Amino acid sequence: MMKAILTLNSGSSSLKVSLFPVAGETPLATGLVDGIGPKASIRLRDHEGAAIPASGDMSSHAAAIRTVLAGFGSHWPDMTLAAVGHRVVHGGADRATHALVDAGLLEELATLSPFAPLHQPHNLEGIRAAMEAFPGVPQVACFDTAFHRSHPWVNDTFALPREFYEQGVRRYGFHGLSYEYIASTIASQAPHLAAGRVVVAHLGNGASMCGMQGGRSIASTMGFSALDGLPMGTRCGQLDPGVVLYLMDQRGMSAREISDLLYKQSGLFGLSGLSNDMRTLEGAGTREAAEAIDYFVFRCQREIGAMAAALGGIDALIFCGGIGENSRMIRARICERLAWMGIEIDHTANTANARVISSDLARTSVMVIPTNEERVIALATRALAGLIDKEAA
Ligand code: ADP
Repeated sequence: MMKAILTLNSGSSSLKVSLFPVAGETPLATGLVDGIGPKASIRLRDHEGAAIPASGDMSSHAAAIRTVLAGFGSHWPDMTLAAVGHRVVHGGADRATHALVDAGLLEELATLSPFAPLHQPHNLEGIRAAMEAFPGVPQVACFDTAFHRSHPWVNDTFALPREFYEQGVRRYGFHGLSYEYIASTIASQAPHLAAGRVVVAHLGNGASMCGMQGGRSIASTMGFSALDGLPMGTRCGQLDPGVVLYLMDQRGMSAREISDLLYKQSGLFGLSGLSNDMRTLEGAGTREAAEAIDYFVFRCQREIGAMAAALGGIDALIFCGGIGENSRMIRARICERLAWMGIEIDHTANTANARVISSDLARTSVMVIPTNEERVIALATRALAGLIDKEAA
């Protein structure tokens, strides 16, 4: 009998899934359900990219999860589900580790929804749906904020009156599952950097940076929400709060309209007037697309400097995320003006998307490490659901 772990990343109308063997670290399959509701689509693939047929009710998250598992079940008839691991955006101020789900935890996490209204309710809906679809199967919540709870106070607070900090208005930081993966990969594959000062640039549709020392997060460009720091596909990144006041007071915009503007209409999309997708901008050839890229590159350079300042120096710069892992041009442009930090890339290695792209003589290592958030969820789920001991027994 094959025992498996399902990992789930639940959005408002989508579900990203992976299936891991209990005893392994490479997924057996991945998949996506899009447009949950009457017109949902599903795509499941095995580890070689071959399609796994699946169809059925996907009118709700619970129905979609059952349909996903039925698809995997008909492909691997001897498969049983040992546990489900969930990506949860917010774990609050005190949770520095992932956790087994029970009714108390679900209640606690629901109180955090006002801090991440666009993600947390959907993540929790995914957990409730999986509990309903697979009663009795352990569920584990893995938090994007957990990795950053090691921030020193100066990187955890804003300069607001203290009661706001006590009430949860803090710099939580996000993309923690990705940074946790990178930290563990550094520890195993680049141990000479494990104790060092490492700036990790997670550049995808969502983008942030993390300053790590000794494998722990010291600073992050994302703060209270996933809006701060770098410009992203459709999010603005760092913004003077005076702009928000102006939009409210002088332009009469509502909180909802401003939220839509900052989360969905800004960033690369807003600046280029064309697309949130870096590949499209690289090929566009318009002045606006070029300027959107210029701004993205400039803010990346600025934030690498800020992260290095928070760390008191830099031993390595690591790129990950869809842009960081694939765009030679963006990596080369970001590094171009960072010679003052000992950063110098080897253009042949960069063009080849090699793992180490710094030149041999450079003082600071520059690496490309494909991130793997699902693997972090699978391993945490295996450990917290107690599956390692059972397997060994
Ligand atoms: P998400 O944050 O949604 O997980 P990804 O990490 O998949 O996003 O990153 C998506 C971004 O990566 C898009 O802007 C996409 O254009 C960019 N990207 C992917 N492949 C390339 C490539 N070969 N060149 C440039 N950009 C790329």
